[in-house]
Amino acid sequence: MLYLLSSWKTYGSLILALAISFMAVFTPATTAASFQKIPMEQAIREAKESHEMERTMKIRQMKTQRNLEETLGTKGALPTQYQYDVHYYRMQMRVDVDAQLVYGRVDQMSTATQDNVTFCDIDLYANMIIDSVRVDNSLTTFTRNGNVFRVDLPTPVNTGGQFTVQTFYRGHPVEGGFQAFAFETVQSQTLVSTLSEPYLARTWWPCKDYPDDKADSADVIVTYPSEMFCTSNGTMASDIDNGDGTRTTYWKERYPITTYLISLTMSDFKHWRDWMKYTATDSMPVDYWVFPDDSEAAVPGYAPTVPMLDTLSRIFGLYPFINEKYAMSAFNWGGAMEHQTNTSIIWGYYDQSMIVHEMGHQWWGDMITCRDWHHIWMNEGFATYVEALWFESLGGFTDLRSYMNGMRYTWGGTIYCTDTTDVNAIFSSRVYDKGAWALHMLRHVVGDETFFSIFRTYYADPRYKWKDITTEDFRDLCEQVSGIDLHGFFQDWIYGQYYPKYSYSYLSEPRGTNSYRVYVHVRQTQSTTPTAFRMPVIDVSVYAGSYVDFQVPMMDREEDYVFDLKDVAAPTGVAVDRNDWILKTTASESYTVHVIYDTLMTGLKSVSYQDSVIVRGGTKPYTYGITSGSLPAELTLNAATGIVSGIPTDTGTVTFTVSATATSGGSDSKQITMRIAPKPQAPYVPGDANDDNIVDISDVVSLIAYIFSGGSAPVPLTAGDANADCAVDISDAVYLISYIFSGGSAPLPGC
Ligand SMILES: [Zn+2]
Repeated sequence: MLYLLSSWKTYGSLILALAISFMAVFTPATTAASFQKIPMEQAIREAKESHEMERTMKIRQMKTQRNLEETLGTKGALPTQYQYDVHYYRMQMRVDVDAQLVYGRVDQMSTATQDNVTFCDIDLYANMIIDSVRVDNSLTTFTRNGNVFRVDLPTPVNTGGQFTVQTFYRGHPVEGGFQAFAFETVQSQTLVSTLSEPYLARTWWPCKDYPDDKADSADVIVTYPSEMFCTSNGTMASDIDNGDGTRTTYWKERYPITTYLISLTMSDFKHWRDWMKYTATDSMPVDYWVFPDDSEAAVPGYAPTVPMLDTLSRIFGLYPFINEKYAMSAFNWGGAMEHQTNTSIIWGYYDQSMIVHEMGHQWWGDMITCRDWHHIWMNEGFATYVEALWFESLGGFTDLRSYMNGMRYTWGGTIYCTDTTDVNAIFSSRVYDKGAWALHMLRHVVGDETFFSIFRTYYADPRYKWKDITTEDFRDLCEQVSGIDLHGFFQDWIYGQYYPKYSYSYLSEPRGTNSYRVYVHVRQTQSTTPTAFRMPVIDVSVYAGSYVDFQVPMMDREEDYVFDLKDVAAPTGVAVDRNDWILKTTASESYTVHVIYDTLMTGLKSVSYQDSVIVRGGTKPYTYGITSGSLPAELTLNAATGIVSGIPTDTGTVTFTVSATATSGGSDSKQITMRIAPKPQAPYVPGDANDDNIVDISDVVSLIAYIFSGGSAPVPLTAGDANADCAVDISDAVYLISYIFSGGSAPLPGC
């Protein structure tokens, strides 16, 4: 049976448009600009609460998904679905609220990515009834296999060829513990709402349900009871009273969108509108749809929305969907969901952390989406750090620091989600909170200016904008913008577990009046993996009347630093990362024996060499030894003095480990790298062809012998190039004779 929506006839007349939706507008009691800065403890408490709600909600979605898979035997992404690339969805749907049924038609326009594509696999849960399928308006055959159906293409399509599959279907969207498509009564209002992340769009509409294939645009056209209003993505193109107790609302999304972000929310909402004024003459609507009983509290509760849009636009780049809108629509799931241009948000809660988190997703999650759920931190860690940036914009660094300390995550597991069937792993607070910490740490490693430049580059980069991304893409982008090697940093923080435990100690030596040399030893004591977190920058500070801060790399499990301080009081303490830029613990300990440097001075082949291994701590004298590797040939280490000396006979770089034992018994060893370079060529006298350090007639004789009768070449050859014309020939002999006998110009350095 071919099902036709009753409202199709109205597509041609999109004129009536806005009349009905504005019936529900009411005037807010307060203005949008007035909102309260909340105490940091409250902000942190609310953030934890809203993260918990969002995570719990998404986990329940996943559990629903899992239950459904058990019941319906769905499959994961099929390789055959990569035979085509979707670029447009047109969803036309009638929602029978009383019967809890949907009747739909979805047009999926795609391009073949290979030759001879003969079928198209589309996701749709098995309980939905497919009445018919057309390809480019011609009826075709299809087969169902669990939660995927295969559409036969009447003629094979080659690379670049386009085809549109039109699926006519109906049914009651499946229910698990929760539904992706919910019919509910809330505050005496009928509510229909959707939440499809991560895999549930296919429970209510046919699509290629993976975030790595965004449609370039989508249309959502919904017919439903006229006393309700349906909100969705993008801009409203029309809203028509069908005169039969139903209305049809047409939403156009003209920015790329992934399937899990397409949503519907319908109820008898109260609506009001703010404006984001982003230039002197341009504004974007900011819409709110709330339950009537909630509207008094919602107006002041949502007052920070426009200031947040301004703030995030200033930090990252203009709100991505600026030609459309930003909106929040009330729903009844615990938490909120970043539906593109139309966040769904639990009624009755106005936490700033939640509001700004979902808004942040419009950039990070919606405009740029994690390629698959392994990289979910690219959505959730980013949105969580957006919360911290918002509170920083209000309260400065102090609030940023407090907020991040409220988000400390100290348990195991990796930020990268290794098992995307583990619902708790995808939406773990590790992904949210530790993911945000990864960005916070990155910020300090590259510096504020570069960090925000990374975001603005990320925002604009055509490789990622409107597309998807992985951790490695982002790492490479950060390296490109910062010029810093971040492979170790990303590897340790995104794929490693736990955090570094730093133990530090120091030794201060006077170096003249009010000057000190301070030796600081920092080691990582964690027994978890990685045993050494690689940080291109950490802060090590010496307290000498006030803090003197140094930024140093900490790339190994143990590091020794040497700081020279002038015009300071005597040092009385040391701190590591005193401003909490790193997720870590610290402890101080007493300074023991340490070999300080991991290099010795570079030597020259055949030139007498001397340098010392430097050791501090414990009681002198020390006893030195080589415990592995060996010194460059013909050099020796004096076991009593630590002096390395001799005349090296080979060039090259060697590594060896030196140990030092103090009289008091403590000892240390360190791997040392040392290079022996070739002896540079000795200087020469221009025109001194026979290398006797004077220029006279014997050089002319030598030069003529070289040029004409196989005599010795000048050493170096360029010494014979008296006229500096880059050739040693008779003209140089003539030049020399002129100089020696008739006051001509002196020989020049060769070319
Ligand atoms: Zn989120």
